[in-house]
Parts: sequence; structure tokens; C-alpha cells
Amino acid sequence: MLGRCDRRSGPWTKPIMTLREENYWLTTVQMPSPDAARPLPSRVDVAVIGAGFTGLSAARTLAKRGAKVAVLESETIGWGASSRNGGMVLTGMKLGVNKLISLYGRERTQRMYAATLATIDCVERIVREESIDCDFSRCGHLEVACKQKHFDDYARQADVIAREFNHHLRVVQRNELSSEIGSSIYYGGMVDEVSAGANPARYVAGLGLAAMKAGAEVFERTCVQKIERAAQNGNQGWRIATSRGPLWASEVFVGTSGYTGSATPALQKKLIPIGSFIITTEVLPGAVAHELSPRNRMIYDSKNYLYYYRLTPDRRMLFGGRAAFFPENDQTVRRSAEILRLGMIDVYPQLRDTKIEYVWGGTLDFAFDIMPHAGQMDGLYYAVGYAGHGVAMATYQGQKMAELIAGDKPENPFVGIPFPGAPLGLYNGKPWFLPFAGMWYKFLDWVS
Ligand SMILES: Cc1cc2nc3c(=O)[nH]c(=O)nc-3n(C[C@H](O)[C@H](O)[C@H](O)COP(=O)(O)OP(=O)(O)OC[C@H]3O[C@@H](n4cnc5c(N)ncnc54)[C@H](O)[C@@H]3O)c2cc1C
Repeated sequence: MLGRCDRRSGPWTKPIMTLREENYWLTTVQMPSPDAARPLPSRVDVAVIGAGFTGLSAARTLAKRGAKVAVLESETIGWGASSRNGGMVLTGMKLGVNKLISLYGRERTQRMYAATLATIDCVERIVREESIDCDFSRCGHLEVACKQKHFDDYARQADVIAREFNHHLRVVQRNELSSEIGSSIYYGGMVDEVSAGANPARYVAGLGLAAMKAGAEVFERTCVQKIERAAQNGNQGWRIATSRGPLWASEVFVGTSGYTGSATPALQKKLIPIGSFIITTEVLPGAVAHELSPRNRMIYDSKNYLYYYRLTPDRRMLFGGRAAFFPENDQTVRRSAEILRLGMIDVYPQLRDTKIEYVWGGTLDFAFDIMPHAGQMDGLYYAVGYAGHGVAMATYQGQKMAELIAGDKPENPFVGIPFPGAPLGLYNGKPWFLPFAGMWYKFLDWVS
């Protein structure tokens, strides 16, 4: 049975161990714990909803600019996707470059692409300035082709990206792929050296500390229930009802991503919450880890229903995917462990006898056009829609939106693009269509 492993293989003896339904990253970090007894302030300049990368990055920037900031988080710092992800700090967007150019034109797409490169610098700068100990490393990412036609498309994409965006990706032929990955199932790969890897839980913990050090107050276990326009002392602003009482804010910034709920109903209807799940193995011997990923890349494959994987800094294989489309719960997490283990063995038969020690899940936010979106909706500022590419983009959007709220005019090509809702408006925020979407993507992977 999965997780109850007493097998002996290789020169070392493996302890008997049970699979833990727990986020491995959280075992590597002490999360900051703001004083729970502190009362909510009655009035702030900016209320930030959500204490993930988006909210904490915004709070840090705003507090450094002298704003009085309250971060309202229904759970704890980093509780959402920000502590649960693969820690891949990635360039690029989910949509291909030709599609982007056809949708947004050459000039805006160039600005978008430049922004995705700037997101990595943004994370690196914050890590350096705040001395965040999160194993940030510019190890690059590797995309691997599951079909010959996917690989053929890599050369075309790399050409367009070099020509239009002056950014250089390296296409790796199948017969050279062993220098990048210890798997023989792929048709080739494409490397972007600019991407990075990090321990996301340590990163979000550090971002939380940095926001607090800058003067922002973080209120955990404070669920925002309702937001209404309300004037105070002649100033326009917002009355915010929370599980710990009310407060008033001049501005509100929403960074709730896949956990966006009924407190912001208009935003909720624009986002599809989708589950993503991860397993990690036991710590691997150095030689095995090196064989699996000789350059320690952040790796993902070319499918719609994709797998993403990497080594952790302590040399476990971390292997993730959309094993179930529904957001995480006890059942989807447990089922995912076995689905992902089988997927991992398809990629790396070498890991057939390797123990899986952790499994967990989290929720991603997809907009209907699979693009990041930021701006103002019904007067509330927001940044959402990272579609599994959020470590760098959420950090960047938090910072850019904070600059906008503070009165600057920052470059942000994702503000002002159309933000479509569901076709025919057939969506009230409860994703009834997810099983069909899951089947649709599996079908697309089969035919394309
Ligand atoms: C399993 C998994 C793997 C991923 N892997 C990667 C990866 O390798 N690379 C990558 O770039 N991206 C990845 N992502 C995506 C990335 O993690 C997210 O895009 C990013 O963390 C979003 O950050 P955020 O701050 O916007 O949202 P979150 O971190 O999700 O934070 C939102 C917070 O809002 C709070 N909240 C919601 N409603 C309320 C309310 N009413 N009142 C108060 N608080 C509220 C929630 O409690 C939550 O803590 C992954 C995501 C998952 C789930």
C-alpha cells in the first residue's frame, strides 16, 4: 500500500513510514505569527485581503510608502497557494506567444513578456533586500515535449521570442536531453535560464515578516465577509465587515486568488478555482537526484493536463499535477497521491521503489482567458488569475498595484486588458463544469 513502505533497496535501510497528508514545505519553516490578541484598527488607508504573495507584496510596498495598512487573512500567513506551490519562479505566461500577439497586438505583448522577465528580478530583489532565506536560485526551467509536434513547435516559439522579445530560449534535441533530465520519454525540451526556484513557504514567511517590518499589520483568522462603500469624516471609502468586527479603509486591495469568495462576488464570478496537487518522495541519494535532474531545473511538460516537478533543496523529488480538477479536500488529496506516484514513475521508472512521504493540494485561480488580470472592479483594486504561474507574477502584481494605489503610474501591461466572464454568463462562482473541463483537457491532450 502506498506510503507504508518497509522495502529494502540499495545500500541503505529505509525506515517504515506512513504517507503524510501534509505540505512538506511547511515542515521547513517557522511561519511568523502576528499577535492574535491585537484589536483591529478602526480605520486604515489600505485594507489588503489575503496574506499570500499578492497581498503581502502589496502590503510591504504600501507600508514602505508610509500608508497605514491592515492585511486581513481568514486563515494564517501563507495558508493559501503561496505556501503550497512547487516553488517554480517562472518566466512566460500560459498562453503561447502567437496567441498573445493575436489577442493583444505586438506592442502590448512585448510589454507583457518584458513584465514576466521583470517578475523574476522582482522576487530576487525582495529576497536580497529582505535577506529571505528561501533557497532562491536561478537554476532555469525546462519544458519537455510529450509529442513530436509539441517539440517541433518549440523551435518556432523560440524564434518568435528571440525576434519579438529579444529573449533567448535554448531548444534541446531528444538525443541531448539526458544532459537535462534523467527520463527517456520526452521528444526534446526547451530551456529558459532566467527562471528560478525557491522554497515558497520560506519565501512567503519572509515576505510576511518584511511587510510587518515595514509597518503593515497582519490580522490572521480575520475573514472578510462584506465590503460596502461608506464615507467617513467626509472621505469616500469602504466599510469592511470581518469575523473579528468592522473596520473602515480608504482603499481595498483584493489578493485572494483561488480562494476568492462571496465577499467579492463580481471577482468570484470571473475566476475558476482549480485544484493542483503535489507529492514529495523521501530524500534521494545524491547520485540518483543528479541523474533525475542533472542541472536542478524547474521542469514541466507540454500537456494541458500537465505534470511539473523539481528537486527540493534537500534532494526529494517534488512532483505535481492537476490529478483532480476539484479544489483540495481529504478525498482529492488522498486520491492524488497514487495518481501522481504513477505519473512520476512513468517519467522516472528509477523511482518505482522510492517512498512518497508527503502529499498535499492547493487551489489555483484561472480566469476564463487564462491570463493574469489586475486593476479596479466596482472600485476595489485586485490582482488575480495567475493560472499556476503565480510565484513571480503575484509578487510583481502586489508591488505594482501598491504603487498604483499610492498614486504612481507604474508600467503594468496586465491592467486594462479585457477581463471576460463565463460564456453566456453561466457561472455564479461555483464551478459545476470542472469535471467536464477536466475531461475536455484530457481529450485535448489526446488529440493535440
Ligand atoms: C499546488 C500548487 C502548485 C503551484 N505551483 C506553482 C509553481 O511552481 N510556480 C508558480 O509560479 N505558481 C505555482 N502555483 C500558483 C501560485 O502558488 C499562486 O498563483 C500564488 O501563490 C497566488 O498567490 P496569492 O497571494 O494571490 O494567493 P494565495 O496564496 O492563494 O492567498 C490568498 C489568500 O486569501 C485568503 N482569503 C480568501 N478569501 C478571504 C477573505 N474573504 N477574507 C480574508 N482572507 C481571505 C486565503 O485564506 C488565502 O490565504 C501553484 C499553486 C498550487 C495550488
